[in-house]
Amino acid sequence: MRFIITVFFSLSLILTTFSQEPEEVVKSIFNNALTDNTAEEHLLYLCKNTKGRIAGSEQALHAVRYTMNALIEAGADTVWLQEVPVPHWERGNELAVLRSRLGALELTISALGLSVGTGPAGVNARVVEVHNFEQLDEIGRDVIYEKIVFFNRPVDNTIINTFSGYAGAVDQRISGASEAAKYGALAVIVRSPTQAMHDFVHTGVVRYKDNIPRIPAVCVSPHDAEILSRWLKNDSQSMLHLVSDCRNYDDTISYNVVGEIRGSEKPGEYITVGGHLDAWDICEGAHDDGGGCVQSIETIRLFHELGIKPHRTVRAVMFMNEEMTSTGGQVYAAEAEKNNEIHYAALESDRGLMSPLGFGFGNADDKRLKKLFQLEKYFKPYGIRYFERGGGGSDISPLSKFNTLQIGYIPETQRYFWFHHSANDTFEQVNIREMQLGSAAIASLIYLIDLYDL
Ligand SMILES: [Zn+2]
Repeated sequence: MRFIITVFFSLSLILTTFSQEPEEVVKSIFNNALTDNTAEEHLLYLCKNTKGRIAGSEQALHAVRYTMNALIEAGADTVWLQEVPVPHWERGNELAVLRSRLGALELTISALGLSVGTGPAGVNARVVEVHNFEQLDEIGRDVIYEKIVFFNRPVDNTIINTFSGYAGAVDQRISGASEAAKYGALAVIVRSPTQAMHDFVHTGVVRYKDNIPRIPAVCVSPHDAEILSRWLKNDSQSMLHLVSDCRNYDDTISYNVVGEIRGSEKPGEYITVGGHLDAWDICEGAHDDGGGCVQSIETIRLFHELGIKPHRTVRAVMFMNEEMTSTGGQVYAAEAEKNNEIHYAALESDRGLMSPLGFGFGNADDKRLKKLFQLEKYFKPYGIRYFERGGGGSDISPLSKFNTLQIGYIPETQRYFWFHHSANDTFEQVNIREMQLGSAAIASLIYLIDLYDL
């Protein structure tokens, strides 16, 4: 009897969903997301119990186990792990003290991910401040040899798009070490790429060029970058004692977590929604990118709970190792190729958890874009109006070769770089309502793309 009642109930739920207008389904998605606290609990857990979950760490594996269960509870038909080769890098003791005729100045620093270390004794050297690589080339080896190079170009705060501003400064962090090592520098200290002026350090990955000596790379808080610059102007003979005892170990294995709801009509076609599960070792990884993972799990939960049966298979993916070498996204695409999967569309949420503005669409021709832009009307009631050409994300980009539609979730981002890659990226910095407006927007977009075959 109970079985019959359950079947009847489920059937009626499905029938209700089918008979509902798309506007009503979207409304029910928003209503549920804004009144349910599952996502908040997931984000809180990831932030407080798997803090510092950089790929290769025990915390990352903890996050893998947790989100696997979360996907099962959300109602995914199938949940599994994909093995991902990842680097294993660990931070060590860190200290930076400038000694000048003004006295001693201790700086707030943080090693860059994958950086080689100074060893426990550290290095002592004079400091040369530069703002860009051209300046480095101009002053050359005579000045730079056996010095510590200080890259101090701030993010241009007049650039309104904060991601563009960041992109204009982050070359110092990514490539500064190899550029300086070309001229015999001993180490580099890089101003944190952020629009904020505070004492938090914003770390990130360093990429070494082949055939150039690998030298230690650290970043410094924007506030201390300003002070360091002033002290250096006052006494150019100041000596910096820099300790960054981080280490690179052998590569290891971690995992992507995948959960799906099988499609009712085209199960062999896939729509992926994802975020990255790894976060920098100094962060709780709320905005970057625990929230993107939670929003992806929410898509599964909302579909399941509201009885939305997608035509295509909808997959939530927690990508591993976006921050260091992006192997999670590569493994996911390689598996897709091996299994001859048709990837219809993929959406990535990795721009923080502020209120949703809209979506950017990449890898689509004008005809497809025109149809996608027509979906805007479903989102206007929720204040979501930006439907733009161009978009995607680093973890879904390897799917581009299958002609997969790339969708970037776009929230408001003026405050994002106050948190990004820093100890300031905590659960407390998230407004859960804003995150959930995003979850609902993402789930709604996937529902509509599937429904209208866009
Ligand atoms: Zn991220």
